[in-house]
Amino acid sequence: MSRVGLGKNYEGQECSLARALELIGERWTFLVIRDAFYGVRRFGDFLAHLDMPRAVLSQRLQRLVEAGVMEKRRYQDSPPRDEYVLTEMGRDLWPALLALASWGERHLADGRPRRLFVHLGCGGHLTGSPVCPACGDQVPPESVEMRPGPGAESTREDPVSRALRRPHRLLEPLTEH
Ligand SMILES: [Zn+2]
Repeated sequence: MSRVGLGKNYEGQECSLARALELIGERWTFLVIRDAFYGVRRFGDFLAHLDMPRAVLSQRLQRLVEAGVMEKRRYQDSPPRDEYVLTEMGRDLWPALLALASWGERHLADGRPRRLFVHLGCGGHLTGSPVCPACGDQVPPESVEMRPGPGAESTREDPVSRALRRPHRLLEPLTEH
């Protein structure tokens, strides 16, 4: 009996991570979410920055909208154009984004950050967590300015890459409509 109980508990824990990964662990999906934090909203901008197949991007965005992670908003009627923005559920991935980026830098790259996340309130640099090491605040993405870091590469010439060479407040639209 106790084995059944334990099994159920473990199953429950594994299940929530498995469910999360089933959605955000799909190839490209977390990069789409990352770009949305950077302020990318338009289909063409995601496409230009991520170099992914159009049909795959379309499918991933649709899935994220269906799951409630992103919201589709019409910003132009003729021709119809939509933009994609993170919902509250999507913005809740902010700690996960910081943690994964930091882990990748430390263990899979050369350790030189490509991007710096600066707390606008105090100038502290977030690394791996939304808790600011300088002031101790829990910092939401809209209070963060992203700046190119020492590991930044500047070879890409798409509009998103160009825009990201300048300091940019997270979640603010990156390119003009
Ligand atoms: Zn701070």
